[in-house]
Amino acid sequence: MIIKIENLFKTYDTGSFKVEALKDINLEIKKEEYVAVMGPSGSGKSTLMNILGCLDRLSSGKYILDGEDISKLDDNNLAQIRNKKIGFVFQAFNLLPRLSALENVELPMIYAKVSPTERRKRAKLALEKVGLSDRLYHKPNELSGGQKQRVAIARALVNSPSIILADEPTGNLDSKSSEEIMEIFESLNNEGVTIVMVTHEADIALHTKRIVTFKDGNIISDKAVSNRIAKG
Ligand code: ADP
Ligand code: ADP
Repeated sequence: MIIKIENLFKTYDTGSFKVEALKDINLEIKKEEYVAVMGPSGSGKSTLMNILGCLDRLSSGKYILDGEDISKLDDNNLAQIRNKKIGFVFQAFNLLPRLSALENVELPMIYAKVSPTERRKRAKLALEKVGLSDRLYHKPNELSGGQKQRVAIARALVNSPSIILADEPTGNLDSKSSEEIMEIFESLNNEGVTIVMVTHEADIALHTKRIVTFKDGNIISDKAVSNRIAKG
């Protein structure tokens, strides 16, 4: 089990009132699973992703990531685990506008203290993997939405994470670019990367192997996808 969550509660305390964003969640995700997280706005999806990605802490319960009890780690150890194990992909791409595709992809390796030559080599390979070898020196505003998201995926991949967490990765893309992103995720998953992806779109969710649906901070359904749209 790469992800194991037990009796997870997350409460936001705004000072004037409290919001119970996740209520007694139990969730297990095996290595090499490909999971879609669905549910209406405000149901707790982003809260879950932030906790899974070690960007936020749970209020009570347990989160075991790859055998390690995350709930007990301090911020430094948490950041280390995050950099080593997790790659993030966002709806808004979150690329730095002044940097080239290549430089954006190199960023996480700077944090990981990889040498400059090795960084460049790995960044080129990652961009090649997402089909962008001919766009290495383009800045984000010189790329299409789909190409930007592919740069973001390359960036997520360079430290060889075991998990990709994607929050609405196709939310800003047309259907053709969305399909291209789904093909990349499919092949990453086939190579053994565990993927957890938030999406509102039913046709996008059908590319995954399992759909977990949230409502009001609870999991209301958890089903294998029977009519998958798998390619290759
Ligand atoms: P979703 O991603 O499904 O839209 P969220 O996880 O963002 O849902 O939000 C779940 C609930 O927690 C909502 O009621 C939201 O208003 C609340 N919430 C999210 N983030 C915060 C925060 N930083 N402070 C206070 N409440 C929050
Ligand atoms: P630290 O606690 O070490 O300062 P950061 O908040 O800088 O941690 O994030 C560490 C890692 O989390 C980054 O290397 C990146 O992989 C991921 N991350 C967090 N937020 C973002 C973001 N907005 N865009 C891209 N990556 C992010």
